[in-house]
Amino acid sequence: MLDIHTHVFCWGEDPRQGFLSEETRRRWLTRLIVRLTGLDREPGETRSDQIRNRLVRQLDESSLSRAVVLAQDAVYRDDGEPDAERTHVYVSNDYVLELAGRHEKILAGCSINPLRRDALEELERCAAAGSRLIKVHTAIQGVDPSLPEFEPFYRLAAELDVILMFHTGYEHSCRVISQKFTDPRRLVRPLDHGLRVIAAHCGTCTSFDREDYYPGFVEMMHRFPNLFGDTSILATWPRWKALGRLAGESESLRSRLLHGSDYPFPPARGPYIRRAGFRPGATRNPLDVDLAIKQSFDFSSGYATQGLAWFEPQPVDVLPGRQPSQAVATA
Ligand SMILES: [Zn+2]
Repeated sequence: MLDIHTHVFCWGEDPRQGFLSEETRRRWLTRLIVRLTGLDREPGETRSDQIRNRLVRQLDESSLSRAVVLAQDAVYRDDGEPDAERTHVYVSNDYVLELAGRHEKILAGCSINPLRRDALEELERCAAAGSRLIKVHTAIQGVDPSLPEFEPFYRLAAELDVILMFHTGYEHSCRVISQKFTDPRRLVRPLDHGLRVIAAHCGTCTSFDREDYYPGFVEMMHRFPNLFGDTSILATWPRWKALGRLAGESESLRSRLLHGSDYPFPPARGPYIRRAGFRPGATRNPLDVDLAIKQSFDFSSGYATQGLAWFEPQPVDVLPGRQPSQAVATA
């Protein structure tokens, strides 16, 4: 089984690997997650070591066969250079690529802000290093996926046959640039390239948000057969109704739902006691608890497995037959 949406974070001991801004480290939600996940008790010399060790340990102990661990690219200025001041969460691509190289269950999900000057080179580099999925964080990275300037980026992604994951639905864990960019209806442009697009969180918002993008997600799922939704963060109190809503959708939509947890954000058990019992999955492993809660809903038989095939190593004869440098020159 595959968890297509998990995170590793870096505290900032070595900012080149990744960091949380001072503001993010102090946020009540960050402090709550640190407490709820028992991070202080995890072995490790630094906070970043503890975060990484906990992920590796709990993934190894879980019933999952693989998990995509996502990087988080920076915010970029108008000139395409990184904007450290406005970047509140950063996890470098090399950090997740290295993790994936060392741990069999981990698949690298690199992150590229298409506004960066070297976006095409970085896409080519990450794909060559084995990242089959690329994450774009619309709200935090300030990316409106509908911009015509991103045509070359989407074209190259389609050529390289990578999966693009976009954050959809209001974001609350960190300072955002615009919530408007998280509307799934803005995904027409990448979808028109025919590549697999994942709307992370299925466009869901919480009941205290000003808008609800879920109807837009449903509309887009009916329009585009190459659109998928992941269920990450949906087993939590602020979004507790989301899983029930998804389970009531058509079979065609449910068959394109992919399992994702949003680890290390822990699942809530309360809203699902009647379906999944007091101890979902009869385990304390948060990855398995999250999976058990979601499997108590009737999505599809391939809910937790269908994505696995996308990450199988490709035979050499089906790989795009051209030199990496050419793609950048022609894109
Ligand atoms: Zn996430």
